[in-house]
Amino acid sequence: MNEWTYEPAPESRDIVTLRSSYGLFVNGEFVDGTGGAFKTVNPATEEVLAEVTQAGTEDVERAVVAARHAFDEVWGPMPGKERAKYLYRIARLIQERSRELAVLETMDNGKPIRESRDVDVPLVAAHFFHYAGWADKLEWAGYGPAPRPLGVAGQIIPWNFPLLMAAWKLAPALAAGNTCVLKPAETTPLSALLLADILQQADLPPGVVNIVTGAGETGRALVAHPGVDKLAFTGSTEVGKEIMRAVAGRRVKLTLELGGKAANVIFDDAPIDQAVEGVVNGIFFNQGHVCCAGSRLLVQESVADAVTERLKRRLQSLRLGDPLDKNTDIGAINSAEQLAKITELAKSGAGEGAAQWQPECALPERGYWFPPTVFTGVSQSHRIAREEIFGPVLSVLTFRTPDEAVEKANNTPYGLSAGVWTDKGSRILWMAQRLRAGVVWANTFNRFDPASPFGGYKESGFGREGGRHGLEPYLAAAGAAEVTGG
Ligand code: NAP
Ligand code: MG
Repeated sequence: MNEWTYEPAPESRDIVTLRSSYGLFVNGEFVDGTGGAFKTVNPATEEVLAEVTQAGTEDVERAVVAARHAFDEVWGPMPGKERAKYLYRIARLIQERSRELAVLETMDNGKPIRESRDVDVPLVAAHFFHYAGWADKLEWAGYGPAPRPLGVAGQIIPWNFPLLMAAWKLAPALAAGNTCVLKPAETTPLSALLLADILQQADLPPGVVNIVTGAGETGRALVAHPGVDKLAFTGSTEVGKEIMRAVAGRRVKLTLELGGKAANVIFDDAPIDQAVEGVVNGIFFNQGHVCCAGSRLLVQESVADAVTERLKRRLQSLRLGDPLDKNTDIGAINSAEQLAKITELAKSGAGEGAAQWQPECALPERGYWFPPTVFTGVSQSHRIAREEIFGPVLSVLTFRTPDEAVEKANNTPYGLSAGVWTDKGSRILWMAQRLRAGVVWANTFNRFDPASPFGGYKESGFGREGGRHGLEPYLAAAGAAEVTGG
């Protein structure tokens, strides 16, 4: 028990004006759809926030036609330095309206306001600034002297970083001269719709960005649409495979950013307290709803007890509860469905013989919650060591030698990220060369910068987002065969 407690410090939600219902954003306007409506809820309270339009096949068609027209007539022919002005304006407006975006993101997603305010939204603005800088310099990006945009990009994103994933998709596509049809996740559509408002405010020409809300069916319709030249998907490996099958034989450029099961490796010479902070950030940030989460802790046997003991002590001090409270560390699980998935996998961990530990922690009565959880005594065959849990659950395994650490870290179908904690620079380099992961963090974890490419190996997908590399999926080299969707 804590001897003293914090007073509640809730961020006001007055800054957000919710509409009772939202249309689709097509050709620069909010329009009615043909596919009915669905509700989006606040996962911390189960309160219905708004009704959102479910885009049907005809609506997707309308959005693709609008994007094609905008590409042919306005955005494609526009000089890069003019496109850059729009991107800068969007970035500035995101900064101006950052508190509104952060509060809305927290309400719709359940993540702590501290994170949406200090991580998500600043990175969103930074991403638009970064790609604004590229828009008039594409010929120096390393993809040939006169790279061309592809045309219409269909972009499908998940619910864990709703606005940030929208920015990762839109900013490079627009900088390269493409137009977009974006499909946000069903449980978190509201920040993308607020971004649509910002795009209107920025006077972005109609049709350059279109937003079609809906569930998996809407995504499927977008994938199937022959007028799409480029598809970018972030989400589960399962759906990623389905998309690959759907586009086989079609002339469409595809990038997939999928799941992960990252190893966070602590050597016996690591600064233990820093490493423990890194482990906490690695798996409990955003309730563990992070594709690159450090969900497997690999700790050298000689320091395993010391690390787990300090980790548990640290977890006692995490505060779980109202995501709008500025002192909250752990917010709500995004949906009942995700909560059921986490619960089932955690049960399997205990069932297969790992030891489960949770700090003393009262869960709110309404909403979807899961306490921070640590499993020790995990072996590589356990489901909790192999499957992505996408929740605040850490599996602890041990190793004796660096070779064993590498072997265990790479023993996964995924390859998105990894972390290494050691005092020795040479060991960091040795590990980084051997870890099959798109990103390797050294003595830190979950660090993002728009200039730095991000993406996976193996079942974590292909293609890179961020930096110069993030332009490549949206460009064709001069002289390359015409890419058309139909
Ligand atoms: P998901 O079920 O694959 O959904 C992702 C998006 O695809 C959502 O917008 C979803 O719509 C849509 N969708 C569902 N079925 C579809 C279909 N058949 N065709 C086209 N679109 C479809 O993934 P999730 O559960 O929302 O997200 C969690 C997963 O995303 C995790 O595995 C995580 O690792 C991964 N992720 C990866 C990265 C990365 O950069 N590598 C980043 C974040 C998350 P609905 O919302 O309506 O289902
Ligand atoms: Mg929601």
